[in-house]
Amino acid sequence: MRKWIVAGNWKMHNTIAESVALAKAIKDGASGFQDGTIILAPPFTALFNVGETIKGSSVLLAAQNMYYEDKGAFTGEISPAMLKDAGCSYAIIGHSERRKYFHEQDNDVNLKVKKALTAGLTPIMCVGETDEERVKGVTQDVVGRQVKQGLSGVEKIENIVIAYEPVWAIGTGKVATTAQAQEVHAFIRGILKNLYGNTANDIRILYGGSVTKDNIGDLIAMEDIDGALVGGASLKAEGFLGIIQNISAKK
Ligand code: PEP
Repeated sequence: MRKWIVAGNWKMHNTIAESVALAKAIKDGASGFQDGTIILAPPFTALFNVGETIKGSSVLLAAQNMYYEDKGAFTGEISPAMLKDAGCSYAIIGHSERRKYFHEQDNDVNLKVKKALTAGLTPIMCVGETDEERVKGVTQDVVGRQVKQGLSGVEKIENIVIAYEPVWAIGTGKVATTAQAQEVHAFIRGILKNLYGNTANDIRILYGGSVTKDNIGDLIAMEDIDGALVGGASLKAEGFLGIIQNISAKK
């Protein structure tokens, strides 16, 4: 039985004060939902303060990115140990915005996933096809490559979360249909089964892409959808809590 996860990716939004206020509202509103895991990924500048705000609650902290070295002359980068120090237990890795704007390749994603695991952070590894790739009919080729290369050399999968986020659905209001999402989620689980056997049945695969409290109910009813990675709708407590409530009611 897989427990649901709802993760809010705040991207480059919110000052420290705004982040703390949002985290507090979510923590208070989410206290009744203990049957799954709620994760907040504020910008780096607010990690520590949000971590302090949610301390002692069941809400957990994630970074939106990390680097794969421990320390050194890597201006602008942040190590997994620094993230843990700030209170993180998760790190989003390979988000499509990192791949698109910062040219992250599958190999970078793989190095980061492996480093996060060694450092004791749970990676939320993002994969997903572009609109062009879906239209060309190569969704499975792209997602299959991202999953296999992202996990290359990873021996144990227990402590990994995968997020399927079709790029065309992120921030566009164009959510995948339940059939489209379930098809890719089942495909990903099939790859994990080939690589890791029955452990794949315990791995949470989240859907991301224009999730709201109004559309999550149908998606979460799908067999292989175990939660959501939420961007825009995670920026207001009411909308994010509505997603949590609808997932908790259905899963
Ligand atoms: C995301 O950035 O991971 C995301 C899914 O964004 P949105 O919910 O806004 O589409």
